[in-house]
This record gives sequence, C-alpha cells and structure tokens, in this order.
Amino acid sequence: MIQRIDAVDVAGKRVLTRVDFNVPQDSTGAITDDTRIRESLPTIESIVGRGGIAILMSHLGRPKGARVEKYSLRPIAEHLQTLLPDRRVIVASDCIGDAVEDLCSIAGAGDIVLLENLRFHAEEEANDSAFSAALARLGDVYCNDAFGTAHRAHASTAGVAEHVPTVCAGLLLDKELTYLGSALADPRRPLVSVMGGSKISGKIDVITALMDSCDTILIGGGMMFTFLAAQGHAVGSSLVEHEKLDVAREILSLASQRNINLVLPTDTVIADAFAADAATQVVDVHSIPDGWMGLDIGPETAERYAGTIRTAGTVVWNGPMGVFEFPAFAAGTRAIAEAMAAATVSGTVTIVGGGDSAAAITQFGMSSHVTHVSTGGGASLEFLEGKALPGVVALDR
Ligand code: AMP
Repeated sequence: MIQRIDAVDVAGKRVLTRVDFNVPQDSTGAITDDTRIRESLPTIESIVGRGGIAILMSHLGRPKGARVEKYSLRPIAEHLQTLLPDRRVIVASDCIGDAVEDLCSIAGAGDIVLLENLRFHAEEEANDSAFSAALARLGDVYCNDAFGTAHRAHASTAGVAEHVPTVCAGLLLDKELTYLGSALADPRRPLVSVMGGSKISGKIDVITALMDSCDTILIGGGMMFTFLAAQGHAVGSSLVEHEKLDVAREILSLASQRNINLVLPTDTVIADAFAADAATQVVDVHSIPDGWMGLDIGPETAERYAGTIRTAGTVVWNGPMGVFEFPAFAAGTRAIAEAMAAATVSGTVTIVGGGDSAAAITQFGMSSHVTHVSTGGGASLEFLEGKALPGVVALDR
C-alpha cells in the first residue's frame, strides 16, 4: 500500500521531498516554463500548511557528477520564493553533509529548504547506498512527488526510501498514477490510443502493451512509415527503420488476430527536404514520390482520427503526428489536440503522455483543456508498458 502525503502527520517533521524541478531554461538561466515547479505546489503546501518543514531535492540538467554552476538550483529557489511569497525558502549549498544537516535542523515549521542539485554527485544516479543514507539524515519522512524520474532507480527516488521510517507519495505523483492507472485498468470505452513520434523503436513495448487494453490504436508520426513500408508500400525518403520492419509486421498481424483496430494514415504532408521552408504537397500515403518525405499526417487522416477521438470514452495520446516544431507540419498534431479538447468537453477522459505530445499541447495553449497532461515522458511510457517504476515500488510498504 502506498500512503499519500496528506495522510501523514507532518507537524514539526522534516519531510524530505523529491520534486522534479528540472525545468527548461534559456541561455541566461531564465526559466522558460515553470509548469513542473507549479505542479509541485500542492504537495509543498500540504507539508508547510500543516506545520511541516519541506526539504526539497531535485536534479537539474546533466552536470554528470560535477558541480557546474549553470545547473545550480539557486535560480529555481528564487522563482519558488516568488510563487510562495508568504513562506521562507532557504537554499542549501549542497544536498548532503554536515552544513546541510545543520541547516535542515534549524529550519522551522512552515519553512522550505531547497537542496542543491542532486546530480552534482555521481552517487545520485548510481543509487549509492551511503549517499542515500546521507540524504535520509535530512528528513523524518520521505515523500516522492517526482513522477518524471520515477522510472529511474536513483538514490533520491529509490535508495533513500530504505533509510527513512515513513515514506509516502506526493499529490502530483498520486495524481499521475491515478489517471494513467485508471485509464488502462478501468477505462471508459472505447479506449483509443494515439501513437506518434519519430520512431517505432522507442514505442514497440508500449504499443504491444496497449493492445491488451485498447479498442483502437491510431498511428501517426514518423513511425507510420515503418508500418507502411512493412506493408510493402514505397515511402520515398520518409523515416523508415529497416531493422524494425519485421516487428511492425508482427504488430500488424497481432492487431488483426486480436481484432484491435490499428489504424494507419491514408494521406500525408510530404516535403522535399527536412526543413521549415521545404516545398510541400499533400498526397495519398501510397503515392509518395521518390526523394520526398512524409512529415505530417494529411488532412483526411486528421479528420478521421479527430472523429474517432470525439466518440471515444478514453483517449491516451503519446507522440506528435508530425514534425510539429515546423508550422508547415504541425496541423496533424494540432488537429489531435483540438479533437482531444473537444472530446473532453463532452465527457471523454483525455490523457496526454509527457514528452513531445505534452510540449505540443502546451505550444497550442490547450493543456488545460484535457483531463490530464503527464509530467513524465519516459515514466509515462514505462508505466503504460506495464513496467514497475522503481520510484513507486520504493513507496509501497
Ligand atoms: P519521439 O521522441 O519518438 O516521441 O519523437 C518526437 C519527434 O518526432 C518530434 O520532435 C517530431 O518532430 C518527430 N516527428 C514526428 N513525425 C515525424 C516524421 N514524419 N518524420 C520525422 N520526424 C517526425
């Protein structure tokens, strides 16, 4: 059983909380999207609002075990202070050691301490036991609210839990597990999955796993061309993973044996180069000329997919339909986002896996128009694959 932070008595206790403050920053260090910080506020409020002391820890970027100033969490602490003006946010100079222990022990009820970047120590990603124990000395309770790193067995997500008597899930982690879990375990039907992204290779396991629960799987993105090539169609210079053609054939035949509606695009937006200003045409997927590459699903496919989404009970979306970063190839992805928003209004449960599809729906300004946007790309994929997430297993007592 996993208990949630709001079921734990935190008054006067130091709650060592793993958050995901790995936010995007521009070249000057300014935060360009603070969603992850804001998403952790309910958990922080739950701790400090009940007289606990929130000891927050996170990674930021990839400092690879060395102290790299541009990856310091200091600017994140300053931003957190602006979001919680009535609280005291104290920044620690490191995440373990005597000075940090002293700082955490003098912090008072309602205070927030933000530890320095966990990945300044290589022991974090190595899930080193001594490092986990050093982190554990900073808290009376351990809370994990970092869904984005829950698929990694690191010291702050897994090892530390062994050294703390009380462990629990934060409200964001709990929300992620509830939405993603019930989407698969007890979905409102029909359950439709929209799969896209560049390659089939990263998504084979998730497509296979989704076949256990989905009624329909809509395929888009670069991976559609490996499926089309597997069916024997010419796809020009589109992205094809030749070594995955057999896997694509297996998935197609498994879907037909099991009566799962695995749907491929019928038209595509092709380009004469992988560039924002390339020449484009809309063609039937079976008529892609040599030298041209498909970079988005076509309007007819987008319309058909949108119709399926609008009549679904539950939709789980993972991966863009095209190269949405270039406006000329964003229409297919936008059509999916719009259909999800419209379906939500009429009662469909709509879930966006993290990563690029979350970035896309945010770019279109529609992230608040769906039921749930996951904060974890890799973690949501592994969860949908049915894998146990180490950061979640560590909380189960
Ligand atoms: P993934 O990380 O596998 O989810 O892939 C996301 C990336 O796939 C995005 O950056 C898209 O630009 C890219 N993508 C989507 N459709 C295509 C396509 N038809 N050809 C090449 N890349 C694509």
